[in-house]
Amino acid sequence: MSDCIFCKIAKGEIPSKKLYEDDEVIAFHDIRPIAPVHFLLMPRLHVESLNECSEVHAALLAKMLLLGSRLAKEQGLGTGFRTMINTGTGGGQEVFHLHFHIFGGSAALPKT
Ligand code: 5GP
Ligand code: ZN
Repeated sequence: MSDCIFCKIAKGEIPSKKLYEDDEVIAFHDIRPIAPVHFLLMPRLHVESLNECSEVHAALLAKMLLLGSRLAKEQGLGTGFRTMINTGTGGGQEVFHLHFHIFGGSAALPKT
């Protein structure tokens, strides 16, 4: 998607503070963090949201979940972290390129 901001980040056309990348996924720090550590993990593939995913994306989604846990630990979130996937306008999604928020590091995160 040529006008997608996260596709541009994936291609390096917009700068970001990357903490991980390979041929399928990229992780980078959120520009407006809501916790001391807050990064986004997304596929290079442009998929709008979890609602547009199907069985063909199952391996990619599993990889992202497992990688998120590894990266969270590497970022110092050894006691745990929160994963958030905003889906669609009803889910508060603002950027329509699938991404996982991973954050933590606060003394106490709100319960919801
Ligand atoms: P959503 O509500 O779509 O799940 O969240 C999108 C997230 O992307 C927000 O937390 C926002 O701060 C972050 N974001 C939006 N534009 C940029 C950007 O250009 N660079 C980075 N690093 N984060 C961005
Ligand atoms: Zn995109």
